[in-house]
Amino acid sequence: MKNNGPYAEIIVDLSIRKTDRVFHYFIPSEFEKQVSVGSRVLVPFGNRQLAGYVVGFGVPRSEVKIRSIIGVLDTRILTTEMLELARWMADSYLCSTAEAFGRILSPRLRVKDRRTVKRVFPVHTGVELEKILATMGKKPRQAAVLKASAGCPGLTMTELAAAAGASMKTVKTLVASGMLEAVSQGPLSGVPLIEETDCNSSLRLNPRQEQVLKPVARLLEEGQFGVFLLHGVTGSGKTEVYLHALSTALKTGRQGVAMVPEIALTPQMIDLFRARFGRKVAVLHSALSDRERYVQWLRVKSGEAPIVLGTRSAVFAPLPRPGLFVIDEEHETTYKQEDHLRYHAREVAIKRAQLTGAVVLLGSATPSLESRLKAGKGLVYRLLELPHRIDHKPLPEVKVVDMRREIKNGNRGIFSQALTEAVNLRLDRGEQILLFLNRRGYATIVVCRECGLVLKCPRCDISLTYHLDNRLRCHYCNHTIPAPGRCPGCSSRYISHFGTGTQKVEEEAKRLFERAGIVRMDSDTTTRKGSHERILKFFREGKADILIGTQMIAKGLDLPKVTLVGVINADTTLHMPDFRAAERTFQLLTQVAGRSGRGDLPGEVLIQTYSPDHYSITAAAAHDYEGFYKNEMRVRRALGYPPFSHLALLLFTHEDEDEAKKGAFLAQEFFVKELLNAGGQIDLLGPAPATLNKLKGRHRWQLVLKGPKRNSLKELIREFLDKLETIRPAFKPVVNVDINPQGML
Ligand code: ADP
Ligand code: ZN
Ligand code: ZN
Repeated sequence: MKNNGPYAEIIVDLSIRKTDRVFHYFIPSEFEKQVSVGSRVLVPFGNRQLAGYVVGFGVPRSEVKIRSIIGVLDTRILTTEMLELARWMADSYLCSTAEAFGRILSPRLRVKDRRTVKRVFPVHTGVELEKILATMGKKPRQAAVLKASAGCPGLTMTELAAAAGASMKTVKTLVASGMLEAVSQGPLSGVPLIEETDCNSSLRLNPRQEQVLKPVARLLEEGQFGVFLLHGVTGSGKTEVYLHALSTALKTGRQGVAMVPEIALTPQMIDLFRARFGRKVAVLHSALSDRERYVQWLRVKSGEAPIVLGTRSAVFAPLPRPGLFVIDEEHETTYKQEDHLRYHAREVAIKRAQLTGAVVLLGSATPSLESRLKAGKGLVYRLLELPHRIDHKPLPEVKVVDMRREIKNGNRGIFSQALTEAVNLRLDRGEQILLFLNRRGYATIVVCRECGLVLKCPRCDISLTYHLDNRLRCHYCNHTIPAPGRCPGCSSRYISHFGTGTQKVEEEAKRLFERAGIVRMDSDTTTRKGSHERILKFFREGKADILIGTQMIAKGLDLPKVTLVGVINADTTLHMPDFRAAERTFQLLTQVAGRSGRGDLPGEVLIQTYSPDHYSITAAAAHDYEGFYKNEMRVRRALGYPPFSHLALLLFTHEDEDEAKKGAFLAQEFFVKELLNAGGQIDLLGPAPATLNKLKGRHRWQLVLKGPKRNSLKELIREFLDKLETIRPAFKPVVNVDINPQGML
């Protein structure tokens, strides 16, 4: 390829928008074979050497000096699907394409890593191995390693040592003595798969589950794109449907990803997948080290692990031929990455499926309004329903306890009389109790403990938050009022700030229920790795009667001996300063209630609240998703919130409060002018200090844009970001853009 031939078009790995364009580089003949679309190469850029992604070939338009590629880092590391996905992400989330590539690839690949992997294979198998094992009576560790290697040939040394419960030294000794063979392989080389017969057989689906699986399986077999929303009550057997759908994807020669929220990725869940799919499972989540994640990533890319179980980032798993993307608890906020590149795993999954003709299966007991709306219209998603629990186990009975009455009756404690009695009843019977408390938010809300009144912004319908200058403020639009000394509704003086910690609940529970064994689980008690599991195991084994916890205990747990769930205070969620507060409350209460009565004994749930008549609480108590949905949609429509609009959150941060604020006002000025010109339907809220108005030494101001069309919002913001490049360095704050944020703190 001489000077007149095509040049490589390269996006340089600099994560700023300005460089988000294609540069041409000459391809020296020594690299000709390795440079293809999707390769990662090393190029000179200014006076630096940077990695770059080859996105195409072409001839530069102008007569600029063309420099040459210096080296090839990875041949064809990105598929054409990934290249398209990155372009779409850059467009959808207003990031640079290089940032999107960085997000899609394993973090390990962002540094240069050219290592090979040593895989271990058994030298002897079958009868031969049996004979050898028989002579190893005195070396149980070595025997265990040989057996493990015969069962799973091709493990790395570390994996093998872990699988056999032996040390690396034992593995190395066996390699040195020729009992095992260690083969250095390129990291992408495949490994023989374990036969499917090695794995557990699955449960037989009941007729309802069959009915739900059928259209999903049909689409998989046809190799067509489609999105399903599986709305199934807690304990209706959704997981079993996912597992069958994944098996179907495998049968069609494709691979599948199952995503669960961070907190639901318990060892229980991993065991379930491993038992079903054996070594075909790769597990991807944020707690892995870069190296561990890289190994899993390679196993997926090579096709060795065609089933991926993971949290949101698993959506980027490099499946050679994706067939199915399952998203369990699709309404969960953790599917949205809320810093750096602010993608939503659901949107990315749907895009990938579109690009590859795959199927997306969203599941939830409480679908997000956005998804339910799309499924309801029947145009975008298809709705599937599992309205009953497995074996027709009843849903737990839910009672709402009016805390205003407790105050009137002189009980100012954390536990209502009803909850105290219910706990005592379980203790008498030797059954278990979960006490649930929402994590204290960052915001302090003021609530009247006599009439339940909460002060809200007249414009945004968002709870006002208390600030140290003794004022209440709306952090969407900055509406501010002095904090009242008496309740404006009933003149009571019991209008106070809120928030009870798990520790306080534990203290009071210990005082009230002296005979009970009590354990507590929150971020304080579970910071050490594995402590979460230890506490749960302790509780599951019946070594404690009461488990007190935050969100952590709300999801994914199957605790058959629990017959009572107490929600200490539903209002901490209900009055979060967020337009999704009611939806979060309904979801959380439904989830928590779902933890009760999963065994043979029927369950009961008590919800303590100062707002017993709020529809999100009454609907959760009645297991009435449709009722909640109708009410909440009415409210959202009236206020023009999603899913009837799109929001964009612009966050301005700086060490200096004035600079952050100045930036936000400058942006406002820009948008006001643009909007006057455009005369569109876009609303501007703020600027206002963010609820979390200072984080890691940086002050935070925000501006919210609201409009019916996502694209016009995006375009407007893009113009602003482009303009920013021209007014820096006078404009100092860092600007973060979040399209459809899941929370606004
Ligand atoms: P969900 O995910 O909808 O909350 P799960 O998948 O956890 O429900 O199912 C609840 C329980 O029912 C689990 O213990 C599961 O093993 C069991 N189960 C699911 N499907 C079947 C089936 N077809 N036959 C028997 N038990 C089932
Ligand atoms: Zn009042
Ligand atoms: Zn407001």
